[in-house]
Formats: sequence, structure tokens, C-alpha cells
Amino acid sequence: MNQKISKKDISKLLDELGKEFKVFSPSRESGVTTFAEWDGRDSSFLEWYRNTVISPKAQLQPLYEKMFSFHKDKEGYHLELPPPTDKKLIFGIRPCDAKALTIIDKTFQDTYQDPYYLDKRKNTLLVGLGCTNPYDSCFCTSLGLSPTQSSDVDLMLTDIGDEFLIEAVTDRGMKLIKKTSYLKEVTKTDEAKAEEARRQASSKVTRRLDTKDLAKRLLSSFDDQDFWEKVSNKCISCGICTLLCPTCYCFDISDELVKKEGSRFRSGDSCAFPVYTKMPMENPRLEKWRRVRQKVCHKYEFYPMSFEVIACSGCGRCIRLCPVNWDITQILASLPVKVKA
Ligand code: SF4
Ligand code: SF4
Repeated sequence: MNQKISKKDISKLLDELGKEFKVFSPSRESGVTTFAEWDGRDSSFLEWYRNTVISPKAQLQPLYEKMFSFHKDKEGYHLELPPPTDKKLIFGIRPCDAKALTIIDKTFQDTYQDPYYLDKRKNTLLVGLGCTNPYDSCFCTSLGLSPTQSSDVDLMLTDIGDEFLIEAVTDRGMKLIKKTSYLKEVTKTDEAKAEEARRQASSKVTRRLDTKDLAKRLLSSFDDQDFWEKVSNKCISCGICTLLCPTCYCFDISDELVKKEGSRFRSGDSCAFPVYTKMPMENPRLEKWRRVRQKVCHKYEFYPMSFEVIACSGCGRCIRLCPVNWDITQILASLPVKVKA
């Protein structure tokens, strides 16, 4: 059964949730919009929040993470593992970013069990907030998503004016609703307002990507070097598109050692970087066009082949945050070889 909450009560709600969880909400205090730990006072994000530059994926796979410490003595090496993960709650995640987590679960869970990611994932509740003011770079609807509804969150909130309608999506969400204060029963009028808000939000996502036969079209264009050289021309290999993409997950591992003590870290990496595939004998993607092709094909061809899902949720970050306006939807629309249905 759906519930609702007054916007005036959101701070109190987050304070209450903060007694059980480490709560994260949209923040711009660092100068870059991101999800930061709830500070107990500032719910002004409800007015300015569109979608953050840094996605909430950073709470589950940080760009920089200590894996363990170690030291050596007469008996050999000793490891010290990180402390157990806190119970977290991400408040305000957009449907595209929640879907992105479902997509990368397949990498961290299906093929190889990654304890660092999975431990945080299972201890994190997702409270979605419908996106009623999308950017013109957003194209979530082309990937089968809605800006205001999601099956990838535990609770879903929809803006209905002075209140949010709250829908329990999972059992975990339902349990949370049952023990939460400040909620009220919804009326038929509230449900109608939510329906209208959803309809309007979807109509604001105007960018389109034709995903029909996309993997096949990419496969048939794979060896067209002229095309890939042309579309990679203006890319400066800065890696921003991949480091900010909620479905990119590549990382590098390094050790820091001082005398007999040290730590092992992992940090975000990008297939856009020339050194990304550097190996002792060669670098198979030395030319920029090969790296651009890899980024595009990995998301829209290889990942669907492995996991039957496109590794993109249409969040549009790679378009709006690229310093040279490289646009993945334009590149995919201009693939030279069309496949007959
Ligand atoms: S953000 Fe733009 S310039 Fe930077 S690597 Fe990505 S496509 Fe290239
Ligand atoms: S490829 Fe671009 S639009 Fe798709 S999820 Fe990544 S950043 Fe968002």
C-alpha cells in the first residue's frame, strides 16, 4: 500500500533513518554534485537536485579503496582486512543510477564474487526519487527505463507537489515503511497526481537512441577503421566519460610499501587511457580509435553478449560532462553498416 510524506518532514525522516543507517543524500558542498553523508540539516537538495556529477555507485565502488594492510615480521606476512561495512541508505537515487547498479551486479556477482562490492551492496538500501527535471543529454527511456519508476530500488518516491508519494518496491522497502514515522495514507487524488507527474517526466526525456539490432550493427562495423578514426578524432582520452559512468567498473590495483608495512589499494581506471592495456610485450590498444571502439562496443555489444543487458542506463553523464562534447548517441546513430531486420 502506497504512503506519502510531506516535503517539510524529509529532514526529520532522514534523521530518523540515520539512527539505523549511514544515510547518503545529494550534496554540492564539495563543489561537485555527489552523494554525501547526511549532515542532519540541509534538505535544500530537494530544490536543486537534478542528477549528480558523481553517481551513487561511488558508495559501493569508490574511486579509491584500501583493500587491506599488511606487515612482515619474523613469522612472515600478516594481513589486516577492512572493518565490516556499515548499513547504508542512499536517499534520492535516480532510476537510471539504480539500474546501473543492477547492471554491474552481473560483473561483480555472476562471473566473480567481489567481496568488496558485494558486502556494501547487500548492506545498502536504495530509496529512489523520481526525476522530474531531466537534462537534454538523458536518454533513459530508450533503454526501457522510466525517469520516475524503478524495479531496482527498495522504495520509490514521486513528487506530487508539497508531498512525495512513496511506493514500496521490495520487501526490504516494505519493512522500512512499516517502522518509519511521518508517513500518511495516500488518497485517490494523490495517486492521480503521481500518475500525471510520471507522464510529464517521461515526456521531458526527448533524446532517443535506437537500440534495435545495436549489437549486430556494431559487430558489422567493428572492422571499419575509417569510421572509428573519424568518430574518435576529437576525444582527448581524458577518461571522464568512463570514470563518471555508473556502469563502468574497471579498476587498477597497487601496493604501497614502506619498509615492512604496506597497503593494497584499488583505484578507478579507464579504457580511454593509453596505458590501460599496457602489457610486457605490447599495448593492443595504442591508437585512440581502438580505445574508443572498445568503450562503445563493450557497453552495447560485448556486455549484452555476456549478460543479455546493455551496459548503459542512459544517464547522459558521458555526454554532458565530456570536455569536447563527444556524444555516444550520435556515434551510435551514425554507424555505417545497417543490419536488415
Ligand atoms: S570524456 Fe570525452 S574526451 Fe574524455 S575520454 Fe570520454 S569521450 Fe574522450
Ligand atoms: S554510457 Fe553514458 S549514458 Fe550510458 S550509463 Fe554510462 S555515462 Fe550514462
